[in-house]
Amino acid sequence: MQKRLIVSLLILAALLTTAWPAVAAPPAQTDEVYVVQPGDTLFTIALRFGVTVADIAAVNNLSNPNLIFVGQRLVIPGARPLAEPAIVTDRNERSGPEATPPTPQVYVVQPGDTLFAIATRFGLTVTDLALVNGIRDPNYIYVGQRLILPSPGPAAEYPAPFAAIELSPNPVLQGQTLAVRVTLSEPATLSGDFEGRPLFFTGDDTGGWALVGIHALQDVGIYSLALRARLEDGTESVTAVNVVVGAGPYGTENIQLAPGRESLLDPAVIQAEQARMVEMWSQVSPRPLWEGLFGLPVAGSRVTSPFGTRRSYNGGPVSSFHGGTDFGAGIGTPIYAPAAGRVVLAEELAVRGNAVLIDHGLGVFSGYWHQSKLVVHVGQTVRRGDLIGYVGDTGLVTGAHLHWEMRVGGIAVDPIQWTQRVVE
Ligand SMILES: [Zn+2]
Repeated sequence: MQKRLIVSLLILAALLTTAWPAVAAPPAQTDEVYVVQPGDTLFTIALRFGVTVADIAAVNNLSNPNLIFVGQRLVIPGARPLAEPAIVTDRNERSGPEATPPTPQVYVVQPGDTLFAIATRFGLTVTDLALVNGIRDPNYIYVGQRLILPSPGPAAEYPAPFAAIELSPNPVLQGQTLAVRVTLSEPATLSGDFEGRPLFFTGDDTGGWALVGIHALQDVGIYSLALRARLEDGTESVTAVNVVVGAGPYGTENIQLAPGRESLLDPAVIQAEQARMVEMWSQVSPRPLWEGLFGLPVAGSRVTSPFGTRRSYNGGPVSSFHGGTDFGAGIGTPIYAPAAGRVVLAEELAVRGNAVLIDHGLGVFSGYWHQSKLVVHVGQTVRRGDLIGYVGDTGLVTGAHLHWEMRVGGIAVDPIQWTQRVVE
């Protein structure tokens, strides 16, 4: 019953573009659930339902009313009951586009459905469905779930010279690398930005592609990615696409640091080293140096700590997430370059120990920390499979392992994604 109420409320919320209208004689009041939408604040939600911020915060145990997220379900105390929506099982049963005003309709998820399949069946996009239904993770829907079917908009049409824009993967999860591919109808220079960070395109007269690192702690939701094309006559065309960010499958762990090594967590030491790294991986070599899938840097080793895990130290609060993939391996196990690139750092660091950083071009870097000894030098070009070092226990570690890290536009992304699908 609760799901039906959520859907009912969402429909009403979608129909109301302004604050809750004055109703002369409100019907009996009852608690309902509202799913937080992009752009919502607790204040606007309270206004819409004619309740107070304090009421909502109290009922939902919100310690900080400024921290709500898209997809969060909030109990609205004393909200008014709503009419039942119409339910359809197929597009043919929907009212035609001439029907005014359009009534949002509801689809009940069947076994075997995916959000993509449902979107395709009804002529919608995954973005449309996720946005209207406040779905946090577009990969997760369940049988019996009721989805609002928004009125299909016109097929995406971009201003010239944008002929087509393709996002992969779509939706993209927290901590993944997003590829943006643009097809052009005439030669132009492409640029763009996402969350204030620039995109760097490579390509030719027919189009180009760029990569976006999605931060592992990026709020789940729908974001606008801006794209610009500068024509040869100097005129510029601007457009935007929606990027749906779903939740990554990340847990939380506590790290116990041995006595003596805790001092390395001095913020000044970490910050100085971090600033140095940021400066290095903020550089962008204009051409990709890699090709195809990345390999694994150590053969036959198991992952002892995956990318993205939220971390606390010695029982403290969660202060960070794991920015790479750890492989458990004995000291001296050889490390091989997973892809071609150029060594831009090879030296001993306080936190990262003996560290090697490889520039793969287009803002893509890979790092190999805690090595027992360094065998490459700055400026050296490496090919896939070249020996670049040996596993060790140098720097801030609890035991011998390889920490393999990848950065895209300075953002730490899941390296394993690069070994499983071609990112370009
Ligand atoms: Zn690690």
